[in-house]
Amino acid sequence: MSEETLFTRIINREIPADIVYEDEHCIAIRDIAPKAPTHLLVIPRKPIPRLVDASPEDKAILGHLMLTVGDIARQAGVEEAFRVVVNNGAGAGQTVFHLHLHILGNKKFSEGSLGF
Ligand code: AMP
Repeated sequence: MSEETLFTRIINREIPADIVYEDEHCIAIRDIAPKAPTHLLVIPRKPIPRLVDASPEDKAILGHLMLTVGDIARQAGVEEAFRVVVNNGAGAGQTVFHLHLHILGNKKFSEGSLGF
């Protein structure tokens, strides 16, 4: 059995995905089961399992991910209203143990609330 994560297999083109952005540090794809009309995943090439597993050496990658989220939100036309979600751990709903940032947009968000 392969030890590569699902997202590493997507990055390596072993599994197809709708790739909307790519650079030397990360990739962005459309979520296969969207929870909002615009639902994108920004994924570092480095397979950091969870946010809490990131270390100081990942500081530049983490910063890059956040800046890239803004670029991708602009590219997707949702820069005025979107949410970024990181599920950390199975108890928080994480199902793929390769760090990823959800971008959720084109959705009516309840004001001043996270909705849960
Ligand atoms: P999380 O639950 O935070 O780990 O998020 C994992 C996300 O990956 C879910 O929103 C899934 O719908 C999405 N997902 C799972 N498999 C694929 C795939 N092959 N291509 C694109 N998105 C996927």
